[in-house]
Amino acid sequence: MVKEAAISIICLKCGHCCIHLDVVIVSPKYIDYDLDFSVNDVIDYLEIKRGGNRCPHLSESNECKIHSKSWYNLTPCYQYTQIPDNTECRRGILELNKLK
Ligand code: SF4
Ligand code: SF4
Repeated sequence: MVKEAAISIICLKCGHCCIHLDVVIVSPKYIDYDLDFSVNDVIDYLEIKRGGNRCPHLSESNECKIHSKSWYNLTPCYQYTQIPDNTECRRGILELNKLK
C-alpha cells in the first residue's frame, strides 16, 4: 500500500493540468474498482494523459469526476506538489485571474 501523502498543494481546480499537461491518471476502466494502489498492481491502474488532451475524468463543468473516490488521495493528481508546501497553486491563481 502506498502511504498517503500530506497535502502539499492546494489545487484551485482551474483545469489547467487536466487539459494542458502530461498527467498520470487512473485508467477510466478502473474507476469503479475499489483500488488499493498496492505496489504490484498500481502500474495496471494508471495511464498517461498527454498534454493538449482533455482528461477523461474532467466533466463539462471542469470538475474532476474522481475527486470523491475513496482512493483519490493516493493518485498522482492528489500528490502533485509545489514549494512551499500547503499553499494555493500559483499556476491556478494565474489561470483563474485570466478569467476575471
Ligand atoms: S484525474 Fe482529475 S485532477 Fe487528475 S487530470 Fe484528470 S480531471 Fe484533472
Ligand atoms: S494548475 Fe494548479 S489549480 Fe490548476 S488544476 Fe493544476 S494543480 Fe489545480
